[in-house]
Amino acid sequence: MEFFGHVIDGAEVASASGETFASVDPYTRESWAEVALGGPAEVDLAVAAARRAFDEGPWPRMGRAERGRLLHRLADLILANADRLGLADTRDMGKPITQSRGNDVPRAADNFRFFADHARLTPAEALPMDSGHHAYTRYEPVGVAAAVAPWNFPLMLETWKIAPALAWGNTVVLKPAEDTPASATILARLALEAGLPPGVLNVVHGYGPDSAGQALTEHPGVDRITFTGESATGRVISAAAARNLVPVSLELGGKGGNAVFADADLDNAVSWSLRAIFTNAGQVCLAGSRLYVQRPVFEEFLARFTAAAEAMRLGDPKLDSTEIGPLASETHYRKVRGYVESVADEGGAVHAGGLGDGWFVRPTIVTGLPATARHQREEIFGPVVTVTPFDTEDEVVALMNGTRYGLNAMLFTESLSRAHRVSARLRAGTVWVNCFFIRDLRAPFGGAGDSGVGREGGTFSREFFTEPKAIVMQID
Ligand code: NAD
Repeated sequence: MEFFGHVIDGAEVASASGETFASVDPYTRESWAEVALGGPAEVDLAVAAARRAFDEGPWPRMGRAERGRLLHRLADLILANADRLGLADTRDMGKPITQSRGNDVPRAADNFRFFADHARLTPAEALPMDSGHHAYTRYEPVGVAAAVAPWNFPLMLETWKIAPALAWGNTVVLKPAEDTPASATILARLALEAGLPPGVLNVVHGYGPDSAGQALTEHPGVDRITFTGESATGRVISAAAARNLVPVSLELGGKGGNAVFADADLDNAVSWSLRAIFTNAGQVCLAGSRLYVQRPVFEEFLARFTAAAEAMRLGDPKLDSTEIGPLASETHYRKVRGYVESVADEGGAVHAGGLGDGWFVRPTIVTGLPATARHQREEIFGPVVTVTPFDTEDEVVALMNGTRYGLNAMLFTESLSRAHRVSARLRAGTVWVNCFFIRDLRAPFGGAGDSGVGREGGTFSREFFTEPKAIVMQID
């Protein structure tokens, strides 16, 4: 069985206690890897290493171009190791290999390339003054960034946090999700191979509460906390950050509404709506899990959407032909199964799909549920979509805005003015019109309400990972 250790101060290590935990492949439902189980002791070591690397090491003092060169080299190594990295995430959480190796790995490499170039090319402000003085700003690294990651896009989301933190000269301690530890250790090994100095990128494995996650987010030695995960966890981490007065970025859950208007290009709407909910077996914060279809096209849309969903190929996620793998873990499967089994209790019907073998849930389409049903308000985080007819624009806007989440929304219409009008009325960090999941790393990304606090991407990441300093000089 493969072993994945912590990476602290430039070395891959076991825990002082020798304790480990297993990573279970959700397709075979057997352990495939043994992982070092860290806690407060390993977090202390990692934060101390990151602090030393920041206070005494070359990383924050290196020019941005030189840091960028090393981060580009890391991106090259990520691509050169695409098979290993992709397979690690697929074995850890059952994501089809075409998505892990084909999408997440290249995007992880691109995260490093983008933020390396962004940090290098972003200008600071010069502020001419009338008084015979001159002021300018400097964006300085803050110190040690703690990153706590979820299991649904392991490598992609971890690098999304690590890349801007490093590009701006900080050092990092990453706590990957316990269900998906492998790719983080491989990434940290590659970072050392790329030439990042020891202590710049550290990884500590472990659980959340009473374990490495809690120890890291409560640690007085960290200067920033960037977290992606459940809204309930976000509340706990936010409280820990407040006690230490540490800025925190929270990317939390979602319950994306998706409105298909009668004037939409239905082929396009079916194709994107399918990907919006069934990619990664619906284990996507941005999933379009509430589908609203205007009544004149409701039956036609539902028939085409159902046929397309039923044609999706479930199977071994290691095969290129598989479109939907198992859910990521037994615990998560049981949670999603609970939602599928309780559809009738809430007044709805399973129109298509349902439970599969093992930890599989087939692409499941639910109809007839009132807006008050749990399935329409809570994040299911599985391949389960509710489909509801609507009549007017006002009605669908109210439905779309009717949850505590505010991460993203989608709408399909051929009317330009409706697209602008409705987009402006939706409470969401991102609105996609006639598409889904398209991301430009310069754009703000994040959510309102229970979906989070703060934005990541481009200058938004710079604001989070730097301290702006004003320097005022007398000229005469
Ligand atoms: P989770 O909150 O259970 O765990 C996320 C991470 O936090 C894990 O590493 C876990 O070990 C750690 N953790 C848990 N409790 C902790 C605590 N008390 N203190 C410190 N760390 C703790 O979330 P998950 O189940 O891994 O991920 C799924 C969730 O993530 C979904 O709600 C999904 O919507 C959300 N998500 C959001 C985004 C986004 O960008 N908004 C992206 C992906 C996933």
